[in-house]
Amino acid sequence: MKKYQQTVSLLDNLKLKGIIHSLDNEITEAEEKKVSYLSFLSVLLNSEIAYRTDRRRKRNLAGAHFPVEKELDNFDFARLKGITKSDLASLMDFVWLDNHTNLLFFGPPGIGKTHLSIAIGMKAIQMGYTVCFERIATLIKLLKMADIQRSAGFRVNRLLKTDLIIIDEIGYTPIERKEANLFFNLISELYEKASVIITSNKKFDAWAEMMGDEIMTVAMLDRLLHHSRVFNLSGESFRIKKSTKEV
Ligand code: ADP
Ligand code: MG
Repeated sequence: MKKYQQTVSLLDNLKLKGIIHSLDNEITEAEEKKVSYLSFLSVLLNSEIAYRTDRRRKRNLAGAHFPVEKELDNFDFARLKGITKSDLASLMDFVWLDNHTNLLFFGPPGIGKTHLSIAIGMKAIQMGYTVCFERIATLIKLLKMADIQRSAGFRVNRLLKTDLIIIDEIGYTPIERKEANLFFNLISELYEKASVIITSNKKFDAWAEMMGDEIMTVAMLDRLLHHSRVFNLSGESFRIKKSTKEV
């Protein structure tokens, strides 16, 4: 027993929490199956890696700030025009993310733009990427506060180091010229370094008016669209359908 406690204490010193968690089971199993010393060592190291991977994923999921969790299992593609189930399956290889390609989802409210973005983001985390989700209104607040408030600065820094940034709901609220400038700087900073998913209810041609500066908007769209896949979605609102059903 003393030897056991000493070993656990050594593992604790080395911060090998994954091995500590699985140690009892693995010892019992190794004794039963009479495995070699080498395979026993390999099993322990693998359990440490699995433990760390799982911890990292959980941390990334918490840090992503998803407003709700969404998956694709029950997503109804039949009602949505502009993207097919096989389009989405092909996005799940995440080659676009490795290539810093952006995804842009356009369309009216309630058709699943946010749902799709969150589901893609959650899958990306499962695959080991880091993700940040922000509504444009929150993002702009964060950019404005970054220099004066520590927590905002922290979130903006995290954003700049993330593989995938999801910016939701562009178009619902007008953006002041100064704010649009901050947003433009962010997009320039991320250009060819990370992937951005954008959802918007407004087509590109309405963006200049929304941001109050045509030249800057053109420059921003240039960067967003250079490596991108655009999905123009249409269909009946899921929210309206659901509430009429409930009535
Ligand atoms: P949008 O962002 O386009 O306004 P949301 O993604 O917020 O729309 O969708 C509104 C609600 O309807 C959410 O609860 C979402 O999960 C659900 N929803 C939307 N489209 C679908 C779909 N095709 N299949 C299943 N649920 C959907
Ligand atoms: Mg939405």
